[in-house]
Amino acid sequence: MLQPISELEKSLSRLPGLGRRSAQRAALALVREKERLLKPLVESLETAAARVRCCSRCGAFTTLDRDPCELCTDLTRDGAMLCVVEEPSDIVALEASGAFRGRYHALGGKLSPAHHLGPEKLRFAELVDRVVKEGVREVLLAVSTDMDGDATAGYIAELLRGTGATVTRLAFGLPADSGIAYSDPLTLKRAVSGRRSV
Ligand code: ZN
Repeated sequence: MLQPISELEKSLSRLPGLGRRSAQRAALALVREKERLLKPLVESLETAAARVRCCSRCGAFTTLDRDPCELCTDLTRDGAMLCVVEEPSDIVALEASGAFRGRYHALGGKLSPAHHLGPEKLRFAELVDRVVKEGVREVLLAVSTDMDGDATAGYIAELLRGTGATVTRLAFGLPADSGIAYSDPLTLKRAVSGRRSV
């Protein structure tokens, strides 16, 4: 394979959901249809690279000129409810489900002794700060259902003891190890409405 094409294929195959074969098909289609496929892709990649960032308050995806993000500044949302997620992509999934109308807080991951990810690497201090300052009454934990997710949930429940906020967790009918971002809207809706105290 021509070197620039194989480089393109290599980059594409690193994307989630794209295996080697589909990366190769995509790379070939892109160089075959430069005007229709390649150029618009280059443009949107440049725009995304230049403009997308994470909200300094909640961690959701936003643009450079909107920080805090729309979710943080929308007055119709319930500021007494705060939903804690691992990644900004989880917020996208929860928003698509329409099940939650409060505010969010993305930790930037979950506690993971195996990956040497301790509390100092995640946005726990900011979380406690927000719960106190923003008068949050319920903290809904939307973290994954594996061992690391359980550890993270337990850690947060302990951390928020004494703030007066109730800590709840999604009622998951989800298979273990599956993340929030890949759950379908209906499952997420049920998980939010059936949430339980931690
Ligand atoms: Zn925000």
